[in-house]
Parts: sequence; structure tokens; C-alpha cells
Amino acid sequence: MNFGVIMYYKKLLRHTTLRKYCTNAAKLTVDKIRNIGILAHIDAGKTTTTERMLFYSGTIRSMGEVHHGNTVTDYMEQERQRGITITSAAVSFQWNGNQINLIDTPGHIDFTMEVEQSLAVLDGAVVVLDASAGVEAQTLTVWRQATGYRVPRLVYLNKMDRPGADTAACLQSIRDRLHATPLLLHQPVRIQDRLIGLIDLITLEEIIWTQGRGRNFTRRKLTEKDDGALWESSVNDHRQLVDTLSSLDDKLADKIIQQESMDNLSNIEIEAAVRRCCVDMTVFPIVCGSSYKNIGVQTLMDAVINYLPSPLECNELYKSFGTDLSARAFKVQHDDQRGVLTFLRLYSGEISKAQKIYNLARDKSEQGGALYVALADEYKQVEMVTPGNIAVVSGLKATMTGDLVTSSQAAANRAKKQLATTLADGNQLDRLTLPSARQRIQGLEEPTREELANILLGIGTTAPEPVFLCSIEPPSAAAQNALETALQQLQREDHSLHVSVDEDTGQMVLAGMGELHLEIIKERIVREYKIDVDLGPLQIAYKEMLQSSARGSSAVDRKIGGQRQVLKVDLSVAPVPGLPADRILKLDKSQDSAANLSHLHPRSLQAIRQGVHSALQHGPKIGCPIIDVQVTLHWFESARGTSESVVTATVAQCLRKLLEQAGCAVLEPVMRLQVSCPESHSARVLADLARRRAALHHVHLRHGHKVIDSLTPLSELLGYSTTLRSLSSGLATFTMEFHSHQQMSPHDEEKAIRDVTGF
Ligand code: GDP
Ligand code: MG
Repeated sequence: MNFGVIMYYKKLLRHTTLRKYCTNAAKLTVDKIRNIGILAHIDAGKTTTTERMLFYSGTIRSMGEVHHGNTVTDYMEQERQRGITITSAAVSFQWNGNQINLIDTPGHIDFTMEVEQSLAVLDGAVVVLDASAGVEAQTLTVWRQATGYRVPRLVYLNKMDRPGADTAACLQSIRDRLHATPLLLHQPVRIQDRLIGLIDLITLEEIIWTQGRGRNFTRRKLTEKDDGALWESSVNDHRQLVDTLSSLDDKLADKIIQQESMDNLSNIEIEAAVRRCCVDMTVFPIVCGSSYKNIGVQTLMDAVINYLPSPLECNELYKSFGTDLSARAFKVQHDDQRGVLTFLRLYSGEISKAQKIYNLARDKSEQGGALYVALADEYKQVEMVTPGNIAVVSGLKATMTGDLVTSSQAAANRAKKQLATTLADGNQLDRLTLPSARQRIQGLEEPTREELANILLGIGTTAPEPVFLCSIEPPSAAAQNALETALQQLQREDHSLHVSVDEDTGQMVLAGMGELHLEIIKERIVREYKIDVDLGPLQIAYKEMLQSSARGSSAVDRKIGGQRQVLKVDLSVAPVPGLPADRILKLDKSQDSAANLSHLHPRSLQAIRQGVHSALQHGPKIGCPIIDVQVTLHWFESARGTSESVVTATVAQCLRKLLEQAGCAVLEPVMRLQVSCPESHSARVLADLARRRAALHHVHLRHGHKVIDSLTPLSELLGYSTTLRSLSSGLATFTMEFHSHQQMSPHDEEKAIRDVTGF
């Protein structure tokens, strides 16, 4: 048999089980659905664990391995080569009569934006830790984000097969670094240092995996007579578990008081208490396993079903839509056969094939095409998708990652009105406001209820600031259009990619979250769009910030092309830290100004906004965008027939003058950097960090490794991986993520100006 025939049969086999899934899916009720994500530090074992889940649930017949490059979720070609997960894909599978919709979030540091978008649609998450490392830098990031979206979590201690795996140390790092209460549900069972199974600390059963690539396992009740010391330590752990739970859960505490004992609780009662506390996020259940060694994956899936919430138990915000459709796009993907595919998480209502939808974020209706559900590596066409589920829609052109959609503009207005009414109750506002939205609300002065409703629904959220720039060149002028189309498509998939055209040189400029991010974009353009592009040298995305306030006016009175253009504007600028991009322009509300500005035509306002935008693109110091600035319009006077382009140009010119007057300082991106290296090499690494202007925050020891946390300017970290490798004989690792833009010393500022402007 040749290779092609084998592949054909392999595919066929995979499909047999897929069909089984499809017939079952129709009967499922919402309480049997779990929309979850797997969050982890890179290399903790997210992809390996996902692949095992698909395998044991019978969704795929063969099990891929990361190092063979044949896993289902790492489907893009570069991911297979690099062995990392970049794009979030949703896959659905069945487990014990329930359905798990898994949203595969990317693990690489450059892609935290995408992780955040997917978090908004998760009802629960599994945080995977490498049990020999405990909480790592990225774990902190994803944990913080999950807290921001109030996502209940389980923690899966993976790699329990490793010699350094240490349950107690992991629990301690969860307490110390995540400031969370862990609830240990498993202990490992080892024979001569080899992991063979787990103890279930709720049921006091020993679970041993026997053979069949982890498909077969046995459960046995521990007894005092047969298990001696193991029985004793397990009962101890069990009591500890019940003790922790009863201190947090009144229902369980009452039961214990009633029975006057902790030892007569049924497994069902304990599990129900774990579930209540997990959903309330007062504890985080901890399960153990080794995905690579095929141990503990089924028990992990059981825990997902038992403890993480169904769509019914969360997403209260979307109740304002009633039975109308409400859904959020969390992924836009280009598919060779099906075109653009948009992944939607449904909160309420249903979506049908070829349904028209209304996008609240963009205030636009558009026509959907075919409708699919995503099963492992296949899409299955369906007529309708019901609430709580994930739908994949083709043919949407305007909808981007993060957008909220409904069935019609009327439905949107009804829901917003309903939500605004609900928010009149301050308690409701507090309850419905996610920590992630709180910051945006604080940035507003006296927000209206309608504005609050928009923020809570996530309408108009802003993408994170890119930290790296580079120019991009098509191979020939003829390829320019194709390149623009490719970049447009990539931008829709990935909000953290920014594309702009330099007004002076006409060159296209890419801005992104990291070196790897931009490099991968380039590779995708070459590979998927077959355009041989070149990237210019990588530059740091500096910003500028005002040093003081200034006010002034500009007037125009001249004839252009036979038409008299008369215009007078009065503007001021002031630094306002943290001001969101959509609040930059403010209209003066004082009496005289308000009277004057009440006549402002929407077209003129649009032209003014454009002028503001254009002036803030290039600051006076090094031509970088200005952030944290408020522009106030005090006065606007124009004669009939004055063109909008004159308005835009005059506003921009007036602002440039004011920015010059107020003075600007250069801000540089500063990264949260964590280096882990053997103690023997730490002195050299620390000395090198000091030369890089690193501000040390925390240095501690973990398993003989020094872990160094610092805030370090990005400009000092170019090519850091190479240096670190030679400093530590290849034994050190590091991770970094964007922290903030910070002002520089005059000396460093001079150097940055020289780097950017060349003199
Ligand atoms: P991801 O980056 O979180 O997706 O992690 P991967 O699933 O790609 O795993 C990273 C590496 O760890 C791969 O080489 C895996 O084979 C390995 N790995 C995953 N799970 C385990 C485990 O349970 N034990 C051991 N020893 N290695 C594992
Ligand atoms: Mg992966």
C-alpha cells in the first residue's frame, strides 16, 4: 500500500468517530456544555494535553506528538515546525455524555492579545503547570487575565512523571505567587520513582493506568487494612480537603455540624461543595497527571465536567438580550476552501445558516454564509447552532476578533436599553462589572448608563500598544495590491498587528508585539499568500508624552479654487495619563463654548477628529505617536463652503504648534522580564542585566535555579536570547511581556533620538 492510501484510510477512520459525535450533539442540553480554555506557560504541556483529550474522547483515532509535528491543534505550518501554538482554534468533543468546547489559546508571550480575546468567551479554564517548575512567568500573566474576566479555573499539575515534580512546592507557589487558595484533589502513585497512577482524595480510591496508551485504568478503594501508611496519608489529605472546603462553603459546614463529624459526608456532597467554591473562585481545585505518559487526562476531563461552570451558570450580562442572538467573535481565520471563517461564542439565541447579523461594535449589518461546528481537525456543516455553543460562520467581512453581534439593530437597541435599566441599580453595576472593565470605567468622568452598558458589553475595546515596528516591502509594484489584501486579512485575524502607511515615505509599516510576532507574519505572507515580501530592520515603538498644557488658536481666511475659506479654531492640549483613545477629543462645556459648539455640524466634527488624529501621529521630539493627551475644542467658526480638508489641515496645524509649545518627552517600552538560570551562572547574568538598565524586583531560588524578575527597557533586550545563551552555557531561559511605556533619562533619550533619526 502506498503512503497516500494509508493517509486516506487514516482520515476515514478519524471520520467514523466524528459522525458518532454529530448525531449525539443534537440531544445535548446547555447544562452539559463546558466552554473552556487551556492556559499555560509555554512548554507546560498544553498541546500534548489537548491531543490526549481528543484521543481519549474518541474524537481522533491516532495521537499526535508535539515533537513529531502532527498534533491537531497546532495546525499552522510554522507551529508544527516550531512546536508552539499560535492561533486559537476551537475544537469540540464529547466526554461522558457532556460536550467540551475547547478554545485553544496561544501560549507564546508575543500573543497575549489573542489569549485575552479568547478569555472573554470562556466559562472556565484549565491552567496547566509543569509540576517540576510550579508557577512560571506566563502563568502569572494568564492568571491575571483570567481573574480580569472572572473565569473559574482548575489547575492541572502536568509532568508528574518528572523526577523534580513536587506537589507541595506547586501548592506553595500557587499560594505565594498567585495569592490563591489551592484545593488538592489528587496525589501521585509511584513505584520505584515511576508514576503509575493517582489517588483520588475525595473518594479515597487508587486509580492505576494499565495499558492501551492510557485508555485503560482501574479504580480500587483504599482500605486501612491493605494500604497502611498510604491509607493514613490519604485520609489525612482528605480531611485537609474537607476542612478547607467547610471553611468556605456554608452548606457543607452545616452538614458537618448536623452530623457532628467530617467523616460521614458522601462523595456527592463533597463534589458539590468543590463545584460551588470553584465556580465562586474561592478555591482552585488541583488535579495531577502526566499527559505525555498518558496518566491523569481522563480524570482531568471528569474534573472539568464536575467543577467548571456550564454556560447557564455565568454570562449574566447577556441575559439583557433575552431570546435574541448574542455572540462574540473570538477568532477570524482564513481557510483555503471556505474563505474567511469567523468563530462565534453564542451566549443567547440561535444562529442559522445564511443569517443576517448586526455587529454592535462596528454598527453594521452583514450577511453570514455557511454555518459550521469545529470538530478536531474538521468542520461540519450545520443548519443551526444553539446557545452556549461555538459557531463557525463563513462570509462575514466586517466582523473582527472581539466584536459582539446580535440579530438586528433593533435587538441591539433593546438589549442596551434593558442593560442600562438594570445598571440603574448600583449593586447590579458592581456585580456585572468585570475587573477588566473597571479600569476603563475609571478613565471616564461621569459616564452615562448607556456608556457603561457599552463598556460592559466590550464594545469599543482597544488593542494593546505594539512595541516593535518594521517596514514591509512587496517584491514588485505589481504585488502591492495583493500585499495590502493579505495584510488586511491578517489584521482581521490578529488585532495586535497594526498596519500603517508612513505619510512621508509612502512605505507600509507593520507594528506588533514582538520580534517573533512580526517574523511569523512575514512567514505567513510568504507561505500562505505566496508574496515574497521583505521586512526592514526592526525598530522600537517609542511614544511621546506632553510635558505641560498649552492653548492657542488658528485662523484661515483665503481663496482656494475660487471658493473663500474662512475658519477659526481655538484648542488646548493637556497630559492625561491613561486616557483611552476614544476619549481624546473633548468639547468645552463652559457656557460660551457650549453655545458656540452646539452649532457644530457632524461633518465638521469628523474633519476635526481627523486633524487631531493626524497631528498626534507624529510628536515634535522624534516623530512618534503622542499618548495620554487630551485635546479640548473651545471654539469653532467657519464660513459656508469652507471645505473639510481645510478644517482638518487647520486643526492639525494648530495642534502641532501647541504640542511644540507644551514640549514632549520620549517614552520607551519597558518589559516585564523573568530570567531563570543555574545559581552558578547567576552572578554573570545579574551583572549583565545591570548594564541593561534593568530594575530588579524579585530574585528567588527554585530547585537550584535563580529566578530573576525585573523591569527592563525593550531597547536593551534586542538579541538578548543569544547573549543569555553564551552567558549561561545555554542553561538559562527567559520570558518577557510588555509592561508599560516609561519616560527615559535625558541621556538615554538623546541616544534613542540618535537611533531613530540618525543624528
Ligand atoms: P505547550 O507549549 O504548553 O503546548 O507544551 P507542549 O504540549 O508542546 O509540550 C512541551 C514539551 O513537553 C513537549 O516536548 C512534550 O512532549 C513535553 N511534555 C508534555 N507533557 C509532558 C509530561 O507530562 N511529562 C513530560 N516528561 N514531558 C511532557
Ligand atoms: Mg502548544
